[in-house]
Amino acid sequence: MFSYSSSLSQIPSIGKSLAKKLTSLGINTIGDLLYHFPFRYDDFTEFRQINELEVGQTVTVQGQIVKISTTKTWKKKMALTEAHVTDGQGQIKAVWFNAPAPVRFLSKGKYVQLSGKIASGGKNQEPYFSHPNVEIISQSSIGNQNIEASPRSTSTGNLAPVYPETKGINSYFLRRLIKTYLGRTVIHDFIPRDILETEQLIDLKTALHNIHFPENQADLALAKQRFAFEKMFLIQLKALQVKKNWETKSAVPVAFDEPFIKQFVKSLPFALTTAQKKSAWQIIRDLEQTKPMNRLLEGDVGSGKTVVAAMAAISVAHQKYQVAILAPTEVLAIQHFHGLSRFFKNSGLAIGLLTGSKTELNCNINAEDETATTKPKLSKKKFLENLETGQIDIAIGTHALLQQKVRFKNLALVIIDEQHRFGVNQRAHLQQGTLNLDDGMNKTIPHLLSMTATPIPRTLSLALFGNLNLSIIDEYPQGRKKIITKVIPPKEREIIYDFIRQQIQAGRQAFVICPLVEETSKMSEVKAVTEEHKRLQEEIFPEFKLGLLHGKMPSKSRSASGGAFSKEEIMQKFKNREYDILVSTSVVEVGVDVPNATIMLIEGAERFGLSQLHQFRGRVGRGEHQSYCYLFTSENIGFTTRRLKSMEKTNDGFKIAEYDLNLRGPGQFLGTLQSGVPDIAMESLTDVKLIQASRLEAQRILAFDPQLENFPLLKQQIDQLANMIHWE
Ligand code: ADP
Ligand code: MG
Repeated sequence: MFSYSSSLSQIPSIGKSLAKKLTSLGINTIGDLLYHFPFRYDDFTEFRQINELEVGQTVTVQGQIVKISTTKTWKKKMALTEAHVTDGQGQIKAVWFNAPAPVRFLSKGKYVQLSGKIASGGKNQEPYFSHPNVEIISQSSIGNQNIEASPRSTSTGNLAPVYPETKGINSYFLRRLIKTYLGRTVIHDFIPRDILETEQLIDLKTALHNIHFPENQADLALAKQRFAFEKMFLIQLKALQVKKNWETKSAVPVAFDEPFIKQFVKSLPFALTTAQKKSAWQIIRDLEQTKPMNRLLEGDVGSGKTVVAAMAAISVAHQKYQVAILAPTEVLAIQHFHGLSRFFKNSGLAIGLLTGSKTELNCNINAEDETATTKPKLSKKKFLENLETGQIDIAIGTHALLQQKVRFKNLALVIIDEQHRFGVNQRAHLQQGTLNLDDGMNKTIPHLLSMTATPIPRTLSLALFGNLNLSIIDEYPQGRKKIITKVIPPKEREIIYDFIRQQIQAGRQAFVICPLVEETSKMSEVKAVTEEHKRLQEEIFPEFKLGLLHGKMPSKSRSASGGAFSKEEIMQKFKNREYDILVSTSVVEVGVDVPNATIMLIEGAERFGLSQLHQFRGRVGRGEHQSYCYLFTSENIGFTTRRLKSMEKTNDGFKIAEYDLNLRGPGQFLGTLQSGVPDIAMESLTDVKLIQASRLEAQRILAFDPQLENFPLLKQQIDQLANMIHWE
């Protein structure tokens, strides 16, 4: 007998070359093999006598081969195999091109079970089996009124599992292999029995059998339910453990100076929304604790997360601790640098900027208009020194801030904007020693505040960020006008171009976003956007100034890169109204604030996900003027249009996320989950009840046994899971 962990390359009957092929499917152990789940099942449970067959049916028949031959087709040089099968009542032909393995073992006189679709062809439109599954059987039930499925068959007469395949390993082969090793493996259920009972789940052995070889749909459903629970249960256990572990670490408690914060809030040019106040309050409360905060601030584009982060930052800096603010792009880092400098203009705080291409130290900025000042520039070396000696209070930057050589004096808070855009490694780095501060005897780690503008449906948040505390800004600042959104078919382009012309003449500005290019190469995207820029400039808007922005532009400034404008400079020029229209690839997506822009035109809108379109739309509607979002479609496909139309109906990012979740599944939200999570787990992410139940059970078991010492098998499963999924 084998165990889950038995390595396939060590099993003599499998052999090295097969083991190698299986490895390319990610199958290294018996456990991997048994967890190589089908992605589809072909329903071959309908049995018929051959004389009853009708064209179009998917059926199974049994019979004896009376004639079989293989010829090379003249045109395509493919092997064509034809077999004639009779069950005594009738006769039918089966045809295969480049026959799969089992067909090669067929010969005249053999009894077979055939499953597949009945096609028709030839001059008499005769019914025949086109490329059916076939297995050799004993003759037992042939000719009986009630045909019984051959008990040993795995590819015919059943719900035949269809697997992810690779060259040299087809589903026929996998079915046999899995069936064989299912019978030869000791299977211990790692989910405790009482949980199975409460949740009414089937045991692992039955579930494994039924996920591969279900007798009927009901069995299959039970198996899926079990595995969905299993996966979610493991995820929740891990998340809760990570959370517990996080809570054992210590952080510097940051005292809340209420009058000071009140004063700061008063100094703002606007009143905070209730949701902003609530979130800020939750964060400030967390900061007072001696255990590190790990909170996700989730709020739609334009909901005003920055000022909430600013309150946290100034609260910490006011107590003479340092703050690091990380942004995913240079453009965004620079924007935060200017924005926060403005918020903190009379605070006396030193705010620094560190990105890949520039180092700036900006002390006490007084100018409202950030472009008007020439800021003191620092060498990188000097900047790093100042950071280490504590002369910089708030350091804003890209992942350049995460380099090993960057050291802080007493970093107490890390804020990550658009956290999902940071790579797994970059986020993991945050948890490591470099950011720890050595406070005498107590090693502490900084409080962590992550922010995201991707509204994630609540259930999904719970599943994905079960280890985080969540603050949600679910309301916009007052007086913001609803962005008018319209899906525009190709023939109505001109009308919109005219409207844009009027808007620009009235002093407004517009974004044009070019569609995603099929091949994901950056160069073809650059080509597409460059051509569209030229077309719009020459043919549509010759009277206006059009800017161009794409990902291949240098991030260094014009002077530093020898001529070409950087992305940031282009963005800045647009902000300064040097351009009326900015034609861009999707790089414009994150965070950039241009209040005078009132039009967002998206080409090839059908290629984007709704949540992403919503992000683009959030680039406008940031000022006092009515804003518009036009979704240009390249074709008029019904379904796509309906999907896009939902953008017309709501401006609520959470609703759109919910809709997107139902339509396109959770995969797109899973920035934090690496690939390799099986579809079954993906499916389970949409199941609210299941997520809640698994979380509850995980909490219960951890309350009883935090280290899972009594559940070694379970513990082992969680350790394996940890390799697959990244945890915040
Ligand atoms: P996001 O959540 O997308 O990061 P920002 O923090 O950039 O949003 O805020 C968007 C805009 O709204 C900014 O110009 C900001 O100054 C402004 N803003 C934020 N909060 C308020 C408020 N309570 N009232 C009015 N305007 C606000
Ligand atoms: Mg933002």
